[in-house]
Amino acid sequence: MTRTRFAPSPNGPLHLGHAYAAIVAHDLARARGGTFALRIEDIDGERSRPEYVAEFFADLAWLGLQWDGDPVFQSARLGSYVHPGERLKAMGLLYPCRCTRAEIAAAATLFGPDGPIYPGTCKHKQVDPEGAAWRLDVAAAVALSGPLEWVDEIAGSQRAMPEVFGDVVLLRKDLPASYHLAATLDDAADGVTLVTRGLDLFASSHVHRLLQALLDLPVPTWHHHALLVEPDGRKLAKRRGSPSLGDRRRGGEDGPALAAALRDGRLPAGISLSRSLHTGA
Ligand code: GLU
Repeated sequence: MTRTRFAPSPNGPLHLGHAYAAIVAHDLARARGGTFALRIEDIDGERSRPEYVAEFFADLAWLGLQWDGDPVFQSARLGSYVHPGERLKAMGLLYPCRCTRAEIAAAATLFGPDGPIYPGTCKHKQVDPEGAAWRLDVAAAVALSGPLEWVDEIAGSQRAMPEVFGDVVLLRKDLPASYHLAATLDDAADGVTLVTRGLDLFASSHVHRLLQALLDLPVPTWHHHALLVEPDGRKLAKRRGSPSLGDRRRGGEDGPALAAALRDGRLPAGISLSRSLHTGA
């Protein structure tokens, strides 16, 4: 049975782009007689705010989107990330790294979807693991997994290219997981069969596919949907002035009518749907 999820991070209010993402996940589940899960990606204690979570619930209800079961909070699951992280360490696939962002930016010669690609500075060094982040040795992991494939319902079959991000951080210095590890483990734990999210996260799926192979996790299908973009082609973002869903709700807008308009592609002036991977965000 199909199970989809909407997985917002409570580090800011939801905007129209999030509404579109939630509608896609919800409607795909409903169309296939499946279920739709809500996951709050709040492991980042410094950036996450509970007041945004309360707003998320109100916004989704206002749009007429009902999720199935209780929402999952990643912050309540930190303990479940420890064993898989230890397992990857025991496989010799992780190494500690204490490089700062500035050091990486200064040393990097390649750029990936998230900015400068980590140049492997700590890979062959003796680094004190106490309080360090742990990175995935992607070359060693790929040598172990062999070639992998994954399927996006829209873009078709993909050869996994986990090298796109370089040696990503899997265990943060302050947390037993990073986004990549936590999201992959949770999709498996929650029985998600169809991972729906925006095209801006397409490249992440290469890494997630590799983690599934390394940790013997079930492999879902993916559905990377188009993004709502502003006239300059950049992804909608609150900081660029688009009103949040909360602003619209409190301003008396009709939520189900807005959801219907998004479903029909009737977008506010200046906003369009784009399948360009270069969101500039
Ligand atoms: N929490 C992520 C975000 O808000 C989405 C992660 C995902 O869908 O895998 O951008």
